[in-house]
Amino acid sequence: PTLHKVIMVGSGGVGKSALTLQFMYDEFVEDYEPTKADSYRKKILRVKNAENIPFLLVGNKSDLAEKRRVPLDACRERAAAWQVPYVETSAKTRDNVDKVFFDLMREIRSR
Ligand code: GDP
Ligand code: MG
Repeated sequence: PTLHKVIMVGSGGVGKSALTLQFMYDEFVEDYEPTKADSYRKKILRVKNAENIPFLLVGNKSDLAEKRRVPLDACRERAAAWQVPYVETSAKTRDNVDKVFFDLMREIRSR
């Protein structure tokens, strides 16, 4: 089997850890434990050939629709500008969580 590295990029608190843990272990983590943001940032800046890395844009916490901060139009515009797919997820309800990772794997394998 081939191993692929997946990098989650985003501000603290958006749900990177919760999404990963939901995908891996089918569990939703309520606690917020900020982790390793600085070291990840340092590593990500050194990535070479950034334009060649498959990625997609994720809008998480779709279960909190009434607290929405970023309008859907703005999300779609950004994704279109980057020419990447846009997916809305909920790490709480598991909505589209598998889709994010499976779509990404599909894209990696089609390269
Ligand atoms: P990270 O800093 O990006 O890793 O964010 P976390 O994964 O630690 O999540 C921050 C907080 O948001 C935690 O309290 C999570 O329980 C909560 N959270 C994450 N994803 C969701 C979601 O999809 N829905 C809701 N309601 N809360 C979420
Ligand atoms: Mg985290």
